Amino acid sequence: MRVMKFGGTSVENPQRIEEVGRLISDSTPKIVVLSAMAGTTNDLVTYSEYLYKKDHSKAKVFLESMRKKYYRVAEELFSTEEYKNHGRQMIDSHFDNLDEFNRDVFTQHEEKTVLAKGEMISAALMAYHLQETGISNALLPALNFMRIDKDQEPDNYYIRENLNREIALHPGINLFITQGFICRNAFGEIDNLKRGGSDYTASIIGAAIEAEEIQIWTDIDGFHNNDPRYVKNTTRIDELSFNEAAELAYFGAKILHPTSIRPAQDKNIPVRLKNTMNPDSPGTLITGKITGAGIKAVAAKDGIVAIRIKSDRMLLAFGFLRKVFEIFESHRTSIDMIATSEVSVSMTIDQIDHLNEIVSDLENYGIVEVVPDQTIICVVGDMIGESRGMAVRALEALRHIPIRMISYGSSNNNISLLIKSSDKIEALNALSNHLFQA
Ligand code: ADP
Ligand code: ASP
Ligand code: MG
Repeated sequence: MRVMKFGGTSVENPQRIEEVGRLISDSTPKIVVLSAMAGTTNDLVTYSEYLYKKDHSKAKVFLESMRKKYYRVAEELFSTEEYKNHGRQMIDSHFDNLDEFNRDVFTQHEEKTVLAKGEMISAALMAYHLQETGISNALLPALNFMRIDKDQEPDNYYIRENLNREIALHPGINLFITQGFICRNAFGEIDNLKRGGSDYTASIIGAAIEAEEIQIWTDIDGFHNNDPRYVKNTTRIDELSFNEAAELAYFGAKILHPTSIRPAQDKNIPVRLKNTMNPDSPGTLITGKITGAGIKAVAAKDGIVAIRIKSDRMLLAFGFLRKVFEIFESHRTSIDMIATSEVSVSMTIDQIDHLNEIVSDLENYGIVEVVPDQTIICVVGDMIGESRGMAVRALEALRHIPIRMISYGSSNNNISLLIKSSDKIEALNALSNHLFQA
């Protein structure tokens, strides 16, 4: 069995939905994971913002314009009256439900149900479209099998058992459609895998069914060596190792959700990135193989806060770092980068929900400085084979940019550099010119 995930732009209009329909309708057994149509999750966030503000009339107008957009999709996508009706009824049932939230209490709990609608609608549209064109398929409701535990981690046992049970309800079917992104939490409530989470859904499902391959179909022909949103002349990488892809995804390469490689890597399942707009391009293949020495790619992760604690008495005393780490652990905040000197230790975090508590706890041990608006630049490759000169080349490229922290040597795959976010675009371009242009 294969898993094929199609992102928002891959299903952004009726023509694209038909194109995806063609790409998935061969006889290879598969589970197809769909994102919401491009823009929908953002629109649902906007709708939620109106509801938080109790701006009922703006919310109503906004929702009804979304509903009309979906009516037009159904009108174009379906050719028979029967299916146009199915489509409209399905859209109305979701939008009537969304409208019910436009009354009283609106909390994060309600917001999660609102955000789930995009994937529910796109998967239903695809299932009806396939039915109308005579391609047998079954819809597997993600809310019946996808679950996270109290630590927000996938509940793999539950997922495997329930997914297999859902599949077994449809003997003789080779083509299954499901929703990306959405899940239930430990309390059985509707939740999600965070923005961009459909990639993670695909990887979790791939691991659960021990798929032969997980394909992530998007709007670009694979993993590029730099961020194409900020740098011109980026080029596709043919092959990456799991470790390299995981580092790049975690450190900001938007093409993959930050933790989407891990489930595939755990089960050694190849991940292939493909372009829906250019299906014949080979894309990028991510496997457990070491794929050649040297620097392969660069990514950037924004929204980083640097925290430095200075303590001439304590620093190198036994157990000092343990105490510092325990503070972060007790506030369930993970550290991305770390650097130490004799009198101080610097760390970075990207979740700031508990920043104030962390700082006040750290102040028991020394003077604490907090620097916001930082970006981690991550240079990734296999740096063991060609170990001489790698760090120099990266640093040389950035000689004109102030660097606050450097991390090198913790793995063979990564050099991380902390810079001001306002220097990011310049840094990515300088690295591109220096590392990748012949
Ligand atoms: P989808 O909606 O299919 O999940 P995303 O927008 O989440 O698509 O991811 C694809 C986008 O990721 C590309 O259009 C590109 O702009 C961006 N991107 C950022 N870094 C990279 C990279 N290193 N290689 C390829 N694409 C990247
Ligand atoms: N629709 C969700 C989002 O926009 C999930 C995804 O597209 O992967 O974040
Ligand atoms: Mg995405």
